[in-house]
Amino acid sequence: WHDTPCPDGVTVPLVNASSRVLVTGGAGFIGMSLMASLGKRDARTRPAVVVGVDSFNDYYAPAMKRGRAARLKHEFGYDVVEADVCNTSVVDGLFEKYTFTHVVHLAAQAGVRYSITHPMTYARNNLECVVSLLNYVAHRTPQPAYVYASSSSVYGLNKKIPFSELHAIDHPANLYGISKFAGEQIAAAYHNLHGLKSVGLRFFTVYGPWGRPDMAVSLFTNEIENGETITLFNGGDMRRDFTYVDDVVRGVEFAMEYCADNAAVFNLGNSKPVQLGYVLAQIEKRLGVKAKFKYQASNAEIKETYADISKARELLGYSPTTSIESGLDQFMAWYNKLDKRTRGEWAGGRFKAERQNAH
Ligand code: NAD
Repeated sequence: WHDTPCPDGVTVPLVNASSRVLVTGGAGFIGMSLMASLGKRDARTRPAVVVGVDSFNDYYAPAMKRGRAARLKHEFGYDVVEADVCNTSVVDGLFEKYTFTHVVHLAAQAGVRYSITHPMTYARNNLECVVSLLNYVAHRTPQPAYVYASSSSVYGLNKKIPFSELHAIDHPANLYGISKFAGEQIAAAYHNLHGLKSVGLRFFTVYGPWGRPDMAVSLFTNEIENGETITLFNGGDMRRDFTYVDDVVRGVEFAMEYCADNAAVFNLGNSKPVQLGYVLAQIEKRLGVKAKFKYQASNAEIKETYADISKARELLGYSPTTSIESGLDQFMAWYNKLDKRTRGEWAGGRFKAERQNAH
């Protein structure tokens, strides 16, 4: 590893023409967006190799994941290998072939509500796979730079806003948040035991083109368009720190070059929480259709997420710039280019069937 201006004794590989990057969850929303961003760099800073791994599971439409993988292949020549990231022999085979300088671990079972009904899926994908990948990576010589996805959900019942990395985490509110917090703790243990440097990124409600159909922006858009009734939890009186995907991806790219010999954790939010009702109204306006909705009480939803991003600003140079209005414009421009059949196909998956059964 080479010429990063790091403090004494710390070496971190830069992302440049000699980098080789493994992105787990490469067919996922953020994974694909990261791979595409790396692919768009100039010749000096574009990695020599970018490879994804993804299980293409059916939590939401595998067709959408295939669409993302096809885009990466078509535009950048990048492959997303279909495999379970828990499968160490697959990971080993890829390392033997490419000797990755960077691993960005984004593969996970995401979603708060789904974790209530499917706790074991989270134990498997977000605990077992995290341990097996960390254990593999920590025993490589040299160890690659390791960046992984955590979540704002770790803050759980913590009522103090904005959420700061300095806050003690007391009770994540659900299995998803717990699995993500455990991921951070496991990464810290691997630093203590094997000196593995890592950067955990607590993402906050990421949205944008190619966004996940189970999350508010895509979900509302699709439901409004199809005349379906939107369920608004807790009277819609919830605020989320919606963060545009390009801002998040820039943060991930900064984290890939972060110079510190520790197991670091950063908030990557927008630091401007927005009411769900406002987002809904903005989507209605862009679609020119009024939403039908009903209210439902829920104790799984946190009232507000709000990231203090001063640590990421200072140490990573992270600086989100996209307003919710401009982000929604960019999402809608992408959505409008899809034909109706594709929109319908991509809106489905297990989460949708369960949502419909629950109502
Ligand atoms: P996503 O569901 O679109 O992507 C995750 C991908 O991982 C999926 O394509 C899935 O098929 C794959 N995957 C799951 N288990 C796997 C396994 N065992 N082996 C291989 N692949 C597997 O989610 P995303 O929104 O792109 O999120 C990426 C990461 O960021 C996740 O770790 C998620 O928990 C975290 N995160 C996302 C958000 C957000 O707002 N999108 C917020 C907080 C945290």
